[in-house]
Amino acid sequence: MKGVAVFPGSREVRLIQREPSRLAQPDQVMLRVLEVGICGTDAEICSFQYGTPPSGQDHLVIGHECLTEVVEVGSLVSQVRVGDLVVPSVRRPCGERGCRACRAEHQDYCYTGGFTERGIKDMHGFMTEYAVEYERYLNVVPPHLRDVAVLTEPLTIAQKALAQVFWLMQHRPPWLYSDTPNDMRGCGLSALVLGAGPVGLLGGMALVAAGFTTYVYSRELSPDPRIDLVEDIGASYISSRTMKIPDVAARIGNIDVIYEAVGHSPFALEVMQVLGFNGIYVLTGVPDEHAFGESDAARLVRQIVLKNQLLLGTVNAGPEAFAAALRSLDVFNCRWPRALRTVISGRYAAEQAPELLLHRPNGITGVLAF
Ligand code: BGC
Repeated sequence: MKGVAVFPGSREVRLIQREPSRLAQPDQVMLRVLEVGICGTDAEICSFQYGTPPSGQDHLVIGHECLTEVVEVGSLVSQVRVGDLVVPSVRRPCGERGCRACRAEHQDYCYTGGFTERGIKDMHGFMTEYAVEYERYLNVVPPHLRDVAVLTEPLTIAQKALAQVFWLMQHRPPWLYSDTPNDMRGCGLSALVLGAGPVGLLGGMALVAAGFTTYVYSRELSPDPRIDLVEDIGASYISSRTMKIPDVAARIGNIDVIYEAVGHSPFALEVMQVLGFNGIYVLTGVPDEHAFGESDAARLVRQIVLKNQLLLGTVNAGPEAFAAALRSLDVFNCRWPRALRTVISGRYAAEQAPELLLHRPNGITGVLAF
């Protein structure tokens, strides 16, 4: 079967032929891969700045944002059936008995760094025709979300972050106390999203849906499908080429939440200066290691993101975030069916993967259809 692999030793990205997968455990499931999104992390792995092959192997099959179909189940599988559409999570637990996060099935908060990530760290991913996975890492997708469900994983990044933001917002300033999680309507809060990639745009949708007056700040100039999307969902777009940060702050007033989805640390730090009173700054972008040389800020921001530190650094996502992302996709699908679909800019054959990974297209998210 086909797979898309990175060879760090020879610095190649190419299509490979692999041995067919087989179930080895009774609680495993065989998945036929339907679609895989290409994201910034994949591009970084393909420029050899990030990612590691499984131990003893010279290559890593990439791909972690996917939609798959169950085609075979082991004898102990009870929660999914052949024909179900499922989205697997990305991170797998470390082996340390003392890691309370991993032992609580929250490897997204792993304390040891010994976790693995499919398609990213020490484990092959999903840019391949078939993959084997344990039932417990699968999230069942309602069939009517089939054409947008490949966006579930990037949306989990926002869901994990925003669940914490909403909780903090509702418990810190006492006058905002509310028993309704995820509903901040009527609170008069504003949010600034940095970056109009998939994580930024999906985060923007989640913020609008929760009742924030939402602004997206990015470098695109009109006309651009990202700007149309932002306007379609009822948020406001501001281009960094026409308005500087202090003027953005003056236009918005008190900025309650900044949701960063760019991964460029000097920019992230510059914008940090305009966070309002009682504000929360969420960092989701991981600066690449080249930036470490440019400033200590890059190291700091990367650390904040990868270790889940406050300012609210957040990485990966747990089971609740996957469940929330699927619920949100349903909401977005009802409210903004057209805008949601424009997050997927094109569907391509696996053979086009190396080209797409090395020269990312202009669109928002490219998806490989297997
Ligand atoms: C993925 C996460 C992963 C992170 C760091 C992101 O692109 O969506 O699941 O934890 O990269 O490797």
